[in-house]
Amino acid sequence: MDYPFDAIVVGAGGAGLWAALELAREGVNTAVLTKLYPTRSHTGTAQGGVCAALGNLEEDHWEWHMFDTVKGGDYLVDQDAAEVLAREAIETVIELEHMGLPFNRTPDGKIDQRRFGGHTSNYGEAPVRRACFAADRTGHMILQTLYQQCIKHGVRFFDEFGVVDLLFDGGEPGAGGRAAGVVAQRLADGELHTFRAKAVLLATGGFGRMFRITSNAHSLTGDGVALCYRHGIPLQDMEFFQFHPTGIVGIGILLSEAARGEGGTLLNDLGERFMERYAPKLMELAPRDMVSRAMYQEIRAGRGIGGKDYLYLDVRHLGRKVIEEKLPDITDFARIYQGVEPLTEPVPVQPTAHYAMGGIPTNVSAEVTRDEKSTVVPGLFAAGECACVSVHGANRLGTNSLVDLLVFGRRAGRQMARYAGGVERPRPIPNAVEPVRAELEAIRARPSSGESAAAIRTELQAEMMDNVGVYRDGKLLTAALAKVRELEARHDRISITDCGSVFNTELIEARELGYLLDIAHVTVSSALARTESRGAHSREDYPERDDKKWLKHTLAYRGTDGPTLRYKDVSITRFEPKPRTY
Ligand SMILES: Cc1cc2nc3c(=O)[nH]c(=O)nc-3n(C[C@H](O)[C@H](O)[C@H](O)COP(=O)(O)OP(=O)(O)OC[C@H]3O[C@@H](n4cnc5c(N)ncnc54)[C@H](O)[C@@H]3O)c2cc1C
Repeated sequence: MDYPFDAIVVGAGGAGLWAALELAREGVNTAVLTKLYPTRSHTGTAQGGVCAALGNLEEDHWEWHMFDTVKGGDYLVDQDAAEVLAREAIETVIELEHMGLPFNRTPDGKIDQRRFGGHTSNYGEAPVRRACFAADRTGHMILQTLYQQCIKHGVRFFDEFGVVDLLFDGGEPGAGGRAAGVVAQRLADGELHTFRAKAVLLATGGFGRMFRITSNAHSLTGDGVALCYRHGIPLQDMEFFQFHPTGIVGIGILLSEAARGEGGTLLNDLGERFMERYAPKLMELAPRDMVSRAMYQEIRAGRGIGGKDYLYLDVRHLGRKVIEEKLPDITDFARIYQGVEPLTEPVPVQPTAHYAMGGIPTNVSAEVTRDEKSTVVPGLFAAGECACVSVHGANRLGTNSLVDLLVFGRRAGRQMARYAGGVERPRPIPNAVEPVRAELEAIRARPSSGESAAAIRTELQAEMMDNVGVYRDGKLLTAALAKVRELEARHDRISITDCGSVFNTELIEARELGYLLDIAHVTVSSALARTESRGAHSREDYPERDDKKWLKHTLAYRGTDGPTLRYKDVSITRFEPKPRTY
């Protein structure tokens, strides 16, 4: 079927929902397409909080928040974007409160706030209470609140519709084409449909599933990011992937940084608070890249618990009241998945792949850009974790993602409404679904004795975890590149056992693996080229940050034999790069 709309939003996480709400308020005929039921989006699992310099408990200013964001991102942050983030954080959080989000409260009724890594007062002096929260279910509350508002404002939802291709009018984006819609496959019956629109937003979230140990949901396979890449749009700063220090050992499920924000500590086998050695001022509340590296170093030095590859997160001293009121879910995770009682025992933790700083390049109006001069692709927008605006630079601070969704999701919706008001709807594109149909038929037609997507995915995840993780070097990255190429070749010959069309998740997973392979290839190539250490990209063969050579964004374009790399300037408006100590 061909569905005509004025605006299409792909993804129903925080970024997509706020954009859709804004479009609906402006009276734009809008559809949200989502491969999951909306409230199952990963935003719903966010635990710790959303930051805004409200200053409810102690003095705070948006300028301090901006500074922390820039320094936290190891100066690769675009400062014009960080200023927008820090300023507009305040009004978006208050708007959410007015929509009815049940934040925790201070005794005098204001939104309660807690500490989080890298958020400080007075440009780095001491930790500041900036994260607003609803216990450790902040993302869940944001998602429910925004979904209710979308329903109230008449947004149309197409649930369990997976977008499999992007459509352009007047040529591909590199040749000046404008966005014209998407092709989507309905999970229930496998049918392909076209959705035509003047403006298309990609809000498809992250891609942590390319790593073995990750906090990310199974659905986070980078679909929107890979589809842009396949249409000639470059991917920005993909070498920067964040590892969160406190994942549940072996499975990666997250125990929020809120545990440390409330006063939890990290201990090694000797019972030492080892962060004293690495970040004497902020200790456990140093940014995540630093804490994860410190943990690896402790483990390498043989001070992991029992000499093994994990350490302890200790919240025993916080007491039952704080734990039950502010950290109920994550302490339950420790009980359920580890059989550990956090009230009386320390919890074993290890770093887990968590957040993509890189993604689809955009300007501060969430318009997708396609080159070093930030030329806009008309009608195409991106927001949330799939986008790189870039407010997180080389390393994101905790609670800065949820606020990124709100601020840039809202901006995306507003800009899309303005854009859609001034252009005609694209005409139907003949045979728009044919390229995808042919691809799917080719997979179905292969004999079922070939290799499965699951086997290739397992090898990819192990390779990325072991060779493209917290620490990297030229040798490991070169080996990873060879492995990714080998897996790509094997993926081209993949086969499936279910050739039906009803709820064919095997076919969908085979496609999703293709997205992950594209993204892994770009990640490894970008990391191999960047011969310095900055934020989450830490090279043992190039341990120093090199501003002279590398204070620039990577842009990776799809070439015939892997990505071609180009570079783009960083916007520096207020804060000149300085050494990054905490
Ligand atoms: C466990 C966990 C805890 C976190 N805690 C915090 C926190 O406390 N504070 C913070 O700031 N950040 C936190 N983060 C990060 C933050 O939650 C995410 O970065 C953010 O929620 C991403 O939101 P999004 O709107 O970009 O996408 P998501 O919420 O991931 O949603 C993606 C959407 O895209 C849709 N989609 C994807 N592909 C397709 C396709 N092909 N076709 C159709 N639809 C598609 C999905 O159905 C889904 O609706 C956490 C992340 C995790 C994993």
